[in-house]
Amino acid sequence: MSTRMIPIIVVGARGRMGTALIREVMDSDDLTLGSCVDRSGGPGIGQDAGRLAGRPDLGVLVDDELHPRRGNVVVDFSLPKATANNVDACVEAGVPLIIGTTGLSEEDEQLLAAAGEHIPVVYAANFSVGVTLLLQLAGTAAAALGPDWEAEIFELHHRHKRDSPSGTALRIGQAVAEATDRVFSEVAVTDRASLGKVRTRPEIGAVGLRGGTSVGEHTLMFLGEGERIELIHRASDRGIFARGALRAARWAAEAEPGLYDMFDVLGL
Ligand code: NAD
Repeated sequence: MSTRMIPIIVVGARGRMGTALIREVMDSDDLTLGSCVDRSGGPGIGQDAGRLAGRPDLGVLVDDELHPRRGNVVVDFSLPKATANNVDACVEAGVPLIIGTTGLSEEDEQLLAAAGEHIPVVYAANFSVGVTLLLQLAGTAAAALGPDWEAEIFELHHRHKRDSPSGTALRIGQAVAEATDRVFSEVAVTDRASLGKVRTRPEIGAVGLRGGTSVGEHTLMFLGEGERIELIHRASDRGIFARGALRAARWAAEAEPGLYDMFDVLGL
């Protein structure tokens, strides 16, 4: 029995994630590349997507403008400004959108929520299945340990990552806060040096380290009186994010409009 092929549009095609997505699409049995998009005037424009991804030519050239109707799902791992600009085009075309770009502003997130009224939008700071489970464990542990245990998060990423702390670290903090009736934005501390005072118990600290080539490591610590629990996720291959995002794309192709995350995709 033949499977229906789903054409995917990759935005940010020349990037680390974009090329990982192209490779995963090429290796899949049920996905094709509808088109590839990158920054206008950038070095990727006009290049063959297969070659950019270190594979044989595919005959799909990287475009400088998004035409959502060239695919069934748009997968965007680019920059916050680009992502925000792409939302309207997807809504207008009625094409589902998967967003992996991190560092989005609250305003950008409101745009996504509004778009979710018209199209399926899956937005996750981390598309790995392992991190999605870590988020769930973080909430469960925080609720079980209660307010006497202090939570701190640290993360490590390669030297090119722009936003800090990572979107995933912030999402972990949010999971801890939500499970213990705190509002993360009110208790988050991402720059302890500037505070110049001792820690208060409800605070949730998050700090980012940058350097080298790490694909992403996140550690959540619960610090109690004389004991400590650590939940750690280490990514060693960007393919995990690409495979998760494409799993979300397959799911979104059949979904009703709404703003979703990886919990929805995995049915957690
Ligand atoms: P990168 O810098 O290697 O690639 C970004 C690409 O976007 C570049 O090719 C750039 O030219 C392109 N771009 C810039 N402006 C554009 C525009 N206006 N239109 C189209 N393309 C444009 O970065 P990366 O490591 O691939 O990461 C991309 C984003 O994905 C970052 O925000 C990163 O934090 C995030 N990320 C998310 C996950 C996740 O699971 N959600 C995992 C890894 C990375």
